[in-house]
Amino acid sequence: MKQIDIIIPVYNEEGNLERLIKTLKETFSPLQNKYAFSYIFINDGSKDKSADMLDEFQKNDDSFTVIHFSRNFGHQIAITAGIDMSTADAAIIMDADMQDPPSVCIDLIKEWEAGYEVVYAQRKTRKDTPFKKWTAFLFYRLLAIFANIHIPKDTGDFRLMDRKVVKALQQFRESNRFMRGLVSYVGFKQTAVQFDRDERFSGKTHYPLAKMLSLALDAITSFSAVPLQLIAQFGWFTTLISSLGILYALVLRIFFPDITVSGWTTLLFSVLFIGGVQLTMLGVLGIYIGRIYKEVQHRPLYIVSAVRSNKSNAQDK
Ligand code: UDP
Ligand code: MG
Repeated sequence: MKQIDIIIPVYNEEGNLERLIKTLKETFSPLQNKYAFSYIFINDGSKDKSADMLDEFQKNDDSFTVIHFSRNFGHQIAITAGIDMSTADAAIIMDADMQDPPSVCIDLIKEWEAGYEVVYAQRKTRKDTPFKKWTAFLFYRLLAIFANIHIPKDTGDFRLMDRKVVKALQQFRESNRFMRGLVSYVGFKQTAVQFDRDERFSGKTHYPLAKMLSLALDAITSFSAVPLQLIAQFGWFTTLISSLGILYALVLRIFFPDITVSGWTTLLFSVLFIGGVQLTMLGVLGIYIGRIYKEVQHRPLYIVSAVRSNKSNAQDK
């Protein structure tokens, strides 16, 4: 029988867990003679009842593993911990809030059986606020412009990955993580399955604008040096323009000495402009250096306070 791990990051999802687990069980019960499903829940420092609920579910069900983080480390890191823990023939990553419909997993598994090693779920439609839709739209288009690798549009982290892919991902230990990008990066045979993204069943999103921006920055900086190249190109461009300006000033100074005092406006403009441009560019350099700093610290990606599992290979820490 083939093993499939379902990896689910959980942060304050007390209103969703019961419904989610029930739906998962119902969805997978017709497949139970072909596949053995295990569930890896990562409790990412939840402050509500999620932790206790997960422990309670785990006690009564051998197919559950619960990893408790010592604090909130963020969605991408929680997924990482699930991937690290996975030993099955395939792993499916999905959200805990029912936005990734469990029924889509069936299609993912079908494509996997057809020979694909990564099957990602691509949103045909999404039921979110106009703001979220718009920012998501912009995010994927910006990524397409900036990132050096192909990251499929309108796909979240909802996807199935073959054991080979999971093993490859386990080797990536960078701390600025954008898992979707890494999955594209590792290659293998990839395909998409279309689905309609539902509304959150209960609670509200944990991705406010600031977190979305930081995810976007992680995505761009970990896969692209285009912003740095743009700086250089802009630098050359301004150097060219200013050399022309200098030439112009020299010609005026030499051949028309009586009008050289005027030009104060030009001077002010160029000083202000160059000042602004330089600060912006220093900022971009700063962003990359900050990321280099974070990487060289080599801190562990997450800290586990407890693992609850009935599997022999996991221990209670
Ligand atoms: N999540 C997490 N840690 C966080 C934020 C979110 O583990 O710091 C989980 C959350 O419980 C959910 C998934 O990541 O299962 C996606 O989060 P959310 O639904 O808030 O994001 P959205 O769907 O709005 O993009
Ligand atoms: Mg969600």
